[in-house]
Amino acid sequence: MSHTEKEQPTDALRRHFANRVINQVRVILNRWRIMHRQPLTSENVEELRYETDLLIRRAQRFGGKPLLDLAHDIEDQLIVIQQPELLNDEASLTRLHASIYQLGENTLRRNDRDHDVDHHIPHKKPVFLAVHSELANKLTEQLNHFDITSQVVKNHEHFQQLSRQYEASAFIVDIHFQGDGQGIELLQSWAKQRTDDAPNEPRGAMIFITNEHSASLPQRLAACRAGGERFLVRPAVPQLIRSVEKYYSATPFEPYKVLIMDDSRSQALFCEKALTQAGMITHVVTDPMKILHAMEDFEAEIIVMDMYMPGCTGTELAAVIRQQAEYLRLPIIFLSAEDDKEIQLHAMSQGGDDFLTKPIDPAHLATTVQNRGQRARVLNNLIVRDSLTGLFNHTHILDRLQQACRRAKENNTQVCFAMVDIDFFKKVNDNYGHPVGDKVISALSLFLKQRLRKTDSIGRYGGEEFAVILPDTKGADALHVMNDIREVFSQLEHSAADTEFKVSFSCGVCSFTGDNSDSIIEQADEALYEAKRQGRNNVQLYLPAS
Ligand code: GH3
Ligand code: MG
Ligand code: MG
Repeated sequence: MSHTEKEQPTDALRRHFANRVINQVRVILNRWRIMHRQPLTSENVEELRYETDLLIRRAQRFGGKPLLDLAHDIEDQLIVIQQPELLNDEASLTRLHASIYQLGENTLRRNDRDHDVDHHIPHKKPVFLAVHSELANKLTEQLNHFDITSQVVKNHEHFQQLSRQYEASAFIVDIHFQGDGQGIELLQSWAKQRTDDAPNEPRGAMIFITNEHSASLPQRLAACRAGGERFLVRPAVPQLIRSVEKYYSATPFEPYKVLIMDDSRSQALFCEKALTQAGMITHVVTDPMKILHAMEDFEAEIIVMDMYMPGCTGTELAAVIRQQAEYLRLPIIFLSAEDDKEIQLHAMSQGGDDFLTKPIDPAHLATTVQNRGQRARVLNNLIVRDSLTGLFNHTHILDRLQQACRRAKENNTQVCFAMVDIDFFKKVNDNYGHPVGDKVISALSLFLKQRLRKTDSIGRYGGEEFAVILPDTKGADALHVMNDIREVFSQLEHSAADTEFKVSFSCGVCSFTGDNSDSIIEQADEALYEAKRQGRNNVQLYLPAS
């Protein structure tokens, strides 16, 4: 008794420090991931040096020698790179990149050795499942189909153990896991600890579920207070998979893209610095007449706009932007020295979402932009996405096709369009029921998301029909890609109540030739028809009759 009592605090302390080392490595990796996409500034390097220094101090106590050596090496490289003439030296950057990558690898490998992490996809973090065992088994099996690893939590103690071993991408937790309201309490205390250990680190998303027929407001409140992102009442398995799928990727978060409209260069730079330091991607426009073009090119998600510019006012510019349906939801934040409330209110009535007055604290600015961006993404998703699959809906995928063709023409690049239709889908419904049919549709949509590139757009075109836009792709390559997907999908097992079955799809591909943007859909459809005619489970490329 006294023996274990003595050991416990030491153990806990050691784990605590080991965790802090790992967390600090993650901080460095995240910083680097964001900063290395753009030319480095000496401030960036200084920041990274600071974080590396922290890592060294932590590693000195509990990190082990290889890690410490590597951290020292990175620090040395940063000192060299900090010299202005070497700041963006190609060779130095490549070496630094390799070392930081190594740092991530070593930390991960250490976990690998200690525990049975899935070796096939060591970079992907598991989803923790703290739900009753029947659901846990079902989820594990389905997640597996999509290469998503999971860890089934047996009880509270096991949860603690797992959370020390793995960094979770998401948590699916029954609010009553192991007792009334206990699921929420478990996650709440974990999140608190995690915040103390690594205050600035993003953590896995929490999805709370309940098997009761409804949830009370106090239950929903408790879940919110624990940090829950979602609360689902008696969710179906595909819905759950979809809710975690977006958190499950090597790069967990896509930075917001912010367009800064300010005729004053120095003001624009101030704003740019505040936002990039908070991890956002920015694009500065100083000539108001160029804003529309820049918005489309850059695919801005938020606009920060000055009030007074030559040629037109910010209010007028906002009104012009709002004239276009596709920009109705785009957040516009005015940033101006104007402190006349009447003028501010007028600006808001013209479509502004916020009015911030200069001078402003950079952190305040960044937070406002971030909050707007987050709400806009949520709203946008409700409008442009299909509710069963989470793919783009019919209208939106057609909008995107038009955009893609226009862009391809301007830049003289290639783009392909593919139509996918599940074979004999009526039979699936007839044999196994409509809900099973829905499951197949969800499975195919996840499958497409997983196998296609991030730059491809995927939509649910109709009931069991899908549409894919593949930018920068030749017809032959698109054919090849879709055919690979067809092949693997046709081998996937789907389950109905007491049996398993397979499903295939047919696909028609059409490449944009520069003048068939009006007929590209019909041509893809024609190729699809040909694929069906050839016996289904088949992909065809549209060949223009010459
Ligand atoms: P083919 O190989 O020629 O494509 O045959 P098919 O049976 O797949 O084609 P058809 O277009 O005749 O039938 C499609 C069926 O898909 C009819 C419709 O009831 C079903 N369906 C459409 N949308 C949904 C949906 O959201 N869920 C389910 N479960 N079924 C759907
Ligand atoms: Mg059909
Ligand atoms: Mg069909």
